[in-house]
Amino acid sequence: MNLNTKVSELSGIGPAYVKKLNKIGIENVSDLFFHFPRRYDDFSNILPIAKARAGQCVSVKGNIWQVASKRSKRGVSVLEAVIADESGTIKAVWFNQPFLKNSLKAGDEIVLAGKPEWNFGSIQMQSPAFEIQNQKNKKQNIHTAGIIPVYPETDGLSSKWLRSKIKPLLSLVNEIGEYLPEEISNKYSLLGIQEAIKELHFPTKFDSLEKAKRRIDFEEMFFLQVAVTKLRKEIAKAKAPKIKLDTKFAQEFVKSLGFELTNAQRKAAYEILKDLDRDNPMNRLLEGDVGSGKTVVAAMALAMTSKNNYQAVMIAPTEILAKQHFEGLKELLKEFNLGLLTSGNVILNSIQDLKKIPDQVRNDVKRMTLKEKKQKALELIKNGEVDVVIGTHSLFQEHIEFKNLGLVIIDEQHRFGVEQRALLKKENKAGYTPHFLSMSATPIPRTLTLTVYGDLDVSIIDEMPPGRKAVATRLVEGIKREEANKFIDQKIEEGRQVFVICPMIEESERFELKSVTVESEKLKEIFPKRKIEMLHGKMKPHEKENIMSSFSEGNIDILVSTSVIEVGVNVPNASIMLIEGAERFGLAQLHQFRGRVGRGEHQSYCFLFSETTNEISLKRLHSFVNLSDGFKLAEIDLEIRGPGEVFGRAQHGLPDIKTKNLMNIELIKETRKAAEEFLSECKLDNFPILKDKVVKYDVVKTLE
Ligand code: ADP
Ligand code: MG
Repeated sequence: MNLNTKVSELSGIGPAYVKKLNKIGIENVSDLFFHFPRRYDDFSNILPIAKARAGQCVSVKGNIWQVASKRSKRGVSVLEAVIADESGTIKAVWFNQPFLKNSLKAGDEIVLAGKPEWNFGSIQMQSPAFEIQNQKNKKQNIHTAGIIPVYPETDGLSSKWLRSKIKPLLSLVNEIGEYLPEEISNKYSLLGIQEAIKELHFPTKFDSLEKAKRRIDFEEMFFLQVAVTKLRKEIAKAKAPKIKLDTKFAQEFVKSLGFELTNAQRKAAYEILKDLDRDNPMNRLLEGDVGSGKTVVAAMALAMTSKNNYQAVMIAPTEILAKQHFEGLKELLKEFNLGLLTSGNVILNSIQDLKKIPDQVRNDVKRMTLKEKKQKALELIKNGEVDVVIGTHSLFQEHIEFKNLGLVIIDEQHRFGVEQRALLKKENKAGYTPHFLSMSATPIPRTLTLTVYGDLDVSIIDEMPPGRKAVATRLVEGIKREEANKFIDQKIEEGRQVFVICPMIEESERFELKSVTVESEKLKEIFPKRKIEMLHGKMKPHEKENIMSSFSEGNIDILVSTSVIEVGVNVPNASIMLIEGAERFGLAQLHQFRGRVGRGEHQSYCFLFSETTNEISLKRLHSFVNLSDGFKLAEIDLEIRGPGEVFGRAQHGLPDIKTKNLMNIELIKETRKAAEEFLSECKLDNFPILKDKVVKYDVVKTLE
């Protein structure tokens, strides 16, 4: 037996358990060791029975006096045992576990662990953990009389079961080779991996348990920091095309806008244009609340890049938004060629719109199939005939080649590794790495910009364009709905349009469709005169697009949608945002929804419909009603839900990292320093196990 022995080959683990273990990624002995407890119960306080107090976690040791089983009036089986030591007696009760009777025999010595409580004047323990003390083979207690690990809750895998399976294997821990460099372990006083693992599963003392936890937290962040530091070094070494800042051109661009830039926009634009004018790649995040005007700033960077005869890419999170960016940027970047490239069928328009394309090609394109059109678009991009390509994330999946890509802009996404990797791959033939700008309406905590995002530079637009009317926000309780509906109908009568966001019943497309359908049927009854349409993730891109343009043109009164509408959509005539099941959304997300209205001259309204009575939910919703600052809201969200929830694993594209660690600025700084020291003195290649672990943070794979 060794670390690689499959759990199926271990004695006492049947196929049903093997399946359950595999389901959570545990295949072999080593995986079992690295499946760490979530928390610990402190039953290390071993007291004489008479000293055990109600409400206190204790272990007591005594002899079983008597065992009795009975049925309660409701038919539940109840097993009672009386345990005695020299100081007194205590009753232990177990419900619905009649089989325990076989392991409890009068006269046996037993240790109980639990929280005693008062029951009709006498003290008892309900469903305590217990271990019979066997005189013949003196086994160490693992469920009682100590610091007892509690594993993450998993269907059908109890902590008791896991403890009993891991315990007999523990000697194999000695086969785990240390993978942290010795210098790092010494300098940062880290426990060795073998000791740490033993201590985590079967703690001996609290202070050594703390040391074990520190070792594991440290290594988790260290892996990430090594990955990110390596990437950062690589980017710093990379050469980017220098995009000369043409001041006169920039001034003319600003003049052509038809409005004054805010000071914050001016400053951000300047920071970005200065970065572009250097020959190593920009790695910058542009943060600004919904509606703060990030797009024009991005457009300036795109224009300057095109002016310098380099190509640029702008990535939007959804097809709808890509299309909208395309339409908007067409106006702002009149003198350049723009192309829209998404997984849908929107390519045709863009190719036909390209100015440089000869009429012949334009006509050819009309007769092409989607596949041929795509092919053609890729060819035009490769030949450098398209200056700015706008698309969705799928752009990165395409095999797309540029002639001379100079700038990549990512709108409203928090993924880091994935983009950066693709970006490095898109080095053009001259050996350049393009500049990189990411834009977000969600403030990203410093702890994350330092880690997951690999030390981005940050520009912040902290000022709204003048003349914005705040969106009046109301939380509508059940009985007030009718009033709200009347109000909404009145606004539609006046010519306004309405968004309705449906609750997320479950994160599945099937449910998405259902909730939108149910909701629009309901609305059709409430607003029989109004034109109501649906928008959801199951629709084909061109269907979505048709609905969106129809809504933009004012042909739809009420648009019922799922969160696909969330980001960026701009329909100034829409002045009402109604959100069903509001408590189910994060505050940052609600703020995004609210940002869809208040974009025109009309006073706008956001109605939150919620049936929740949960206090925390209501508190969150009330803070949303009272605050219009998206940054503050995001902070509240982060506090309540943590970055893991707010940004999500899918979003940052990295393996599970403990939220606690992601928020721990001290640990982040320490591991970052360690990673820098390590990489400046050692080669990762000489530490194969460590490398293996680091590579999981897949930002590094690009560097192979
Ligand atoms: P976001 O930062 O949410 O992406 P947008 O870039 O979509 O915001 O800008 C929202 C709206 O504000 C757009 O219609 C844009 O034309 C307008 N806008 C941007 N900057 C200004 C400004 N300085 N003055 C007036 N309107 C502006
Ligand atoms: Mg935007």
